[in-house]
Amino acid sequence: MENLAKLSKSEELIEKENKYGAHNYHPLPVVLEKGEGVFVWDVEGKRYYDFLSAYSAVNQGHCHPRIINALKQQAEKLTLTSRAFYNNKLGDFEEFICNLFGFDKALIMNSGVEAVESAMKLCRKWAYQVKGIPTNQAKIVFAKGNFHGRTISVISASDDESARKDFGPFVEGMVHVPYNDVEAFESLLKEDNNIAGFIVEPIQGEAGVVVPDSDYLPRIKALCKAYNVLFIVDEIQTGIARTGSMLASYEVNSEDKSSKPDVLILGKAISGGVLPVSAVLASDEIMLTIKPGEHGSTYGGNPLACAVAQEALQVVIDEKLAENAGRLGEIFRAGLEDIAKRVGLINLVRGKGLLNAIVINSDEDSDLAWNICVKFKENGLLAKPTHGNKIRLAPPLVITEEQIRESLAIIEKSLLEFA
Ligand SMILES: *Cc1c(COP(=O)(O)O)cnc(C)c1O
Repeated sequence: MENLAKLSKSEELIEKENKYGAHNYHPLPVVLEKGEGVFVWDVEGKRYYDFLSAYSAVNQGHCHPRIINALKQQAEKLTLTSRAFYNNKLGDFEEFICNLFGFDKALIMNSGVEAVESAMKLCRKWAYQVKGIPTNQAKIVFAKGNFHGRTISVISASDDESARKDFGPFVEGMVHVPYNDVEAFESLLKEDNNIAGFIVEPIQGEAGVVVPDSDYLPRIKALCKAYNVLFIVDEIQTGIARTGSMLASYEVNSEDKSSKPDVLILGKAISGGVLPVSAVLASDEIMLTIKPGEHGSTYGGNPLACAVAQEALQVVIDEKLAENAGRLGEIFRAGLEDIAKRVGLINLVRGKGLLNAIVINSDEDSDLAWNICVKFKENGLLAKPTHGNKIRLAPPLVITEEQIRESLAIIEKSLLEFA
């Protein structure tokens, strides 16, 4: 017999994705059709606070009018030339991003994982041409629990079974050390002369917002310097004002370079969630080891991406989003700590700026965190569990104090429904 129960618009669209789309994600059951600032709306017209911000790509808020305007203006003029020719936007953007972060040169790519991959290639070139490691012997160090993207080479550097299983064989030359463990890194450097670089996140986002000791990065950098190893920082998720400063690893306008990376990897929010744009920044010594014809991307550095990313970064500066993230982050974590005292479900609150997580009092494989996120959704706030029992809470940085307080009320109300 026909199923008489008529599907809602959302259910219909979810069924369609299920039927025709690859099942490589397990989304929360909400179908979005509009976004503005900190809010998104589903196809039934219900409004939600967005506490994922597309994994911190939408730091400037959804459909920021200045970024959308830059997109429209440039889209009507010139979108793609390929790098076979020069275009009138790329040089301006490269100059802008190099000056902003304090590097000699920028390599513009598209997705985050491509920038990580590019940094790995750059690291290897430098290892052979500058450091003098014997051919094909270079090793790159990664932290356990890392997340740097999904290509074969990048998952070769992962220790997450679900990211790796049945995708082998893997790329060679990757070594692991525990995160936030300076001594382990130092022992590795002492016993192996073929280490070319260490690629590390300033805060491990996907691992559940794991914040290392405050002296971790400077100590790692000092070791890298002592052993002539490249200190490479992946700020794809932490970057662009998310943690209360432009970058999480170093202060861009400060004289203090004690934790400034040799190679900086950016993505996600550098284009405000409008187009995929990523970048690798480095010194001349490192960047110029790659010569014409040795690396590239058809869309990398296209004029549309450059126009959008430059405006998106300018918005972060003009609207003082780093300051806002720092100030509201304090208020938000204090609010979460209060809730944790009143509701038994939260084991731990952690984070920096507006990159935060609550660790739920359950096993990693329990579905409690998922059910809590479904409850958040019913009450008008979107978030998603990461690694089982952790819920990342990362709203667009344009959020106001009043909206933070309203969000805390939604979070508390939802958690109380499980008490
Ligand atoms: C999201 C992310 C990436 C990968 O970026 P994609 O654009 O999804 O390829 C790499 N590193 C970190 C730290 C990330 O958060």
